[in-house]
Amino acid sequence: MQAFIARRVVTPEGIRPAAILVEGERIRAVVSRDQVPPDCQVHDFGDAAILPGLVDSHVHINEPGRTEWEGFESATRAAAAGGYTLLVDMPLNCLPATTTVAALEGKRAAARSKCRIDWAAWGGVVHDNQDHIEALAAAGVPGFKCFLVNPGIDGFTMVTEAQLRTALPHVARTGLPLLVHAELPGPIDQATRALAGADWRRYDTYLKSRPDEAELSAIRLMLSLCREFGFRLHIVHLSTSRALPELRAVRAEGLPVSVETCPHYLHLSADMIADGATLNKCAPPIRGWENCENLWQGLGDGTIDMVVTDHSPCPPAMKRLSEGSFREAWGGIASLSVALPLMWTEAQRRGFTLSDLALWMAEAPARLVGCDARKGKIAAGYDADFVVFDPEREFVVSEDKLHYRHPVSPYMGETLRGVVKATYLRGSPVFSEGKFPGEPAGREHTMPASNR
Ligand SMILES: [Zn+2]
Repeated sequence: MQAFIARRVVTPEGIRPAAILVEGERIRAVVSRDQVPPDCQVHDFGDAAILPGLVDSHVHINEPGRTEWEGFESATRAAAAGGYTLLVDMPLNCLPATTTVAALEGKRAAARSKCRIDWAAWGGVVHDNQDHIEALAAAGVPGFKCFLVNPGIDGFTMVTEAQLRTALPHVARTGLPLLVHAELPGPIDQATRALAGADWRRYDTYLKSRPDEAELSAIRLMLSLCREFGFRLHIVHLSTSRALPELRAVRAEGLPVSVETCPHYLHLSADMIADGATLNKCAPPIRGWENCENLWQGLGDGTIDMVVTDHSPCPPAMKRLSEGSFREAWGGIASLSVALPLMWTEAQRRGFTLSDLALWMAEAPARLVGCDARKGKIAAGYDADFVVFDPEREFVVSEDKLHYRHPVSPYMGETLRGVVKATYLRGSPVFSEGKFPGEPAGREHTMPASNR
C-alpha cells in the first residue's frame, strides 16, 4: 500500500490535509495523516496540493496519418507534464478520420505501447456515415463529434441539418453524447464577403469574419434538434458569451445539454492579440475582454460545465508566422502542458479555488466521457490518478516546459502561477520534476455496453 500525503488534498468534500491510501491501482480510502498504516510506502508532498488527475475530453492527437503534427507519444507526454491522466482524441485531423470501426481499430493499433496516460477516442459523425454510428458505439467509443461548418481539413466533412436529421436517431439510440462544433457557415460567409479587400494581418479582420451570430444560430439549431430527438448534446469550445442566457434557460428546463470552453477564451482577449500574431488563431475566435469576463461568470454559475484544451497543434510553418495572415494560418492552439497553470493564474485572482478547477478540469469532463465512476475524483474506489501541484510557485513558459511535438505557443515568455510537480497514473508516477519515469502504460478507456 502507498500513502500520498499533503496539506491540501482536493476531495469532493473540500480541500483538507489528508492521506490518500492507494492499494494497487485504486484509491482505498482518504484518511487523516495519523491513520496511515505503519507498513505504507509514504509520499509526503508537504505544503503542495493534490488534485484528481485531469481529464481532457477535447484533444487532437492526429495519429495515425498526421503524426508529424502530433502523436500519441508526444501528446500523452505533454499531457502527463500538464497533470492529465486521460485524453480523449477528436475524430479528425488523423487519417483515416475515426468515422468507422475499421478506422477506430487503426487508431488502437497506432496507440499501442505509446501512451503515457489513459486515452479514448470519440467517433465522428460526417455527411455519409450514419450507418456506422451504432457500430462505433458497440466498439466502445464514449460518444460522437460533428461539425456544422467546414472543419478546413481533408478527411472529415461537415454535416447539414438534413444530414444530421438522418444521423440523430442513431445517436439517440446509443445514449452517448454528441459533441458539436457550433458555428453555421451562413453568417461566416456573409461576414467574409463584407471583408473583401480587408487586411488579413489584422486580428480584427479575422474576428469580424467569425461573428457571434455564427455560434448563436448553430446553438439554437442544436437546442431545437436536442428537444426533438432527445439525444445528449454537448457544445464544444463555447466562445461567445451571448449564448449563455439561452443555455442557462434550457438547462434549467432539464434539456440534456452540457457546455465546455477552453483556457484560451478565459486567458486571452481580442485586444491582447497583435496583428500578425497567428499563434492566437482558433475557431471560434477569441473575442473581446467583456466576453471573456462573461464566460468566467458562466463557469461560476455552472452554465459552462468544464474547461478542456482543444489542444490542436500543427507543424509551425502552417502558422504562417512570417506573413502573419489570419486567413492562411492553421487555426488551433496547443496547451496541454500549461492548461492547469493558465487556468489557476486566472481563476485564483477571481476568487475561485482548486476545488473549482477539479470540477471543471477533472470531474465534469470525466462525466461527459462516461468514466466518472473511475476517474475525476479523489475518493475510495477511484483510479489513483493525481496531480501534485504547487499553487504558489510561478514559472515562465519556455520551450522546454511544453513537451508536445512542436513547442510553439501564444503563451511563450508569460509568467504563470502554479507548477505541476508530479502526475500519477493508477498509482505510478508518469511525470515527476521534469522527467517521465517508467514505460508508457496508458490504456484505452472504452464504454462497456452495460454503461449505456
Ligand atoms: Zn477541436
